[in-house]
Amino acid sequence: MTQTAFEIGGVTLAPGERRRVELPVSVLSDHTPVTLSVQVIHGKRPGPVLFVSAAVHGDEVIGVEIARRLLRAPQLRSLAGTLMVVPIVNSFGFLNNSRYMPDRRDLNRVFPGSPTGSLAARLAHLFMSEVVARADFGIDLHSAAIHRTNMPQIRVSASNETTLERAEAFGAPIIVRAKLRDGSLRAAAREVGCDILLYEAGEALRFDELSARVGSSGILRVMHQMGMIGTKGLPKRRAAPIQASSSSWLRAPAGGLLRCFKEVGEGVEEGTLLAAVADPFGEQEHEIIAPAPGIILGRAMMPVINEGDACYHIAATPIDPQKRMERLAADLEADPMFDEDEIL
Ligand SMILES: [Zn+2]
Repeated sequence: MTQTAFEIGGVTLAPGERRRVELPVSVLSDHTPVTLSVQVIHGKRPGPVLFVSAAVHGDEVIGVEIARRLLRAPQLRSLAGTLMVVPIVNSFGFLNNSRYMPDRRDLNRVFPGSPTGSLAARLAHLFMSEVVARADFGIDLHSAAIHRTNMPQIRVSASNETTLERAEAFGAPIIVRAKLRDGSLRAAAREVGCDILLYEAGEALRFDELSARVGSSGILRVMHQMGMIGTKGLPKRRAAPIQASSSSWLRAPAGGLLRCFKEVGEGVEEGTLLAAVADPFGEQEHEIIAPAPGIILGRAMMPVINEGDACYHIAATPIDPQKRMERLAADLEADPMFDEDEIL
């Protein structure tokens, strides 16, 4: 079988061609054009079509950095199949350091969108019809909502075997089974037969090296699993991910000042003291205690909280997660292929 041409947005790429395709979204109120920019790498050899998207939520910038690193990977020079990378889906939010679209809509709640709906619906529709419709599989990159942080994790719904194998190949320290959310890119893509791995890591509007490395190396491992790239220079995954089937949020028992004693990725037992909430006079103090064993998936970063605010996100998991996180960190430090100048 020989590779054929790839067409997107009225542009035709020959086998072995790499170029940026600008899909018109709208014009801003001052008439500045806004486009959905897709970097397309069309391999010389036939293979699957994969898309990688970031900043569906405009303030989730770690995914944008992961996309940048991915596009520099030397493995892409001998690609089988086609890779479409969209570093910034929601340019409006990105320019404003905001999760949302200009009308406060959450883009990830309006998929599959419509060509005549709101600006968010139109952008969602464009992404579905130009990118998702051409892909066999996708990886969507996210961070925690503002003022929270996430341990690097893959979220999948209980889907088919292939998708679960790819989730494992990604090699994030934990895989969380999470239900599909109405209006999300992941749910809409599933409807048209394109499964997506959702990568969640770090904080909105901040970079952190662990999240960026786990993300960029994870995408390469999934590409290898899909037969798109070889093993040369492939970052190894040494520890199998922890699997968690449920998770829950612990909320502030009172408003006040939050002091956190445990970090994301740490394991907890039933009764572990996670944090304390105190009033500014230091007279009243409430403890936040782990109700069951598990691993900390995410936590609040803002010390000023109201009663009921989400403080700790804990995944129920039966094994010793502390050792797993330590090993992952050690693997990342030890892996020479993670040298920025050398590979990504
Ligand atoms: Zn997000």
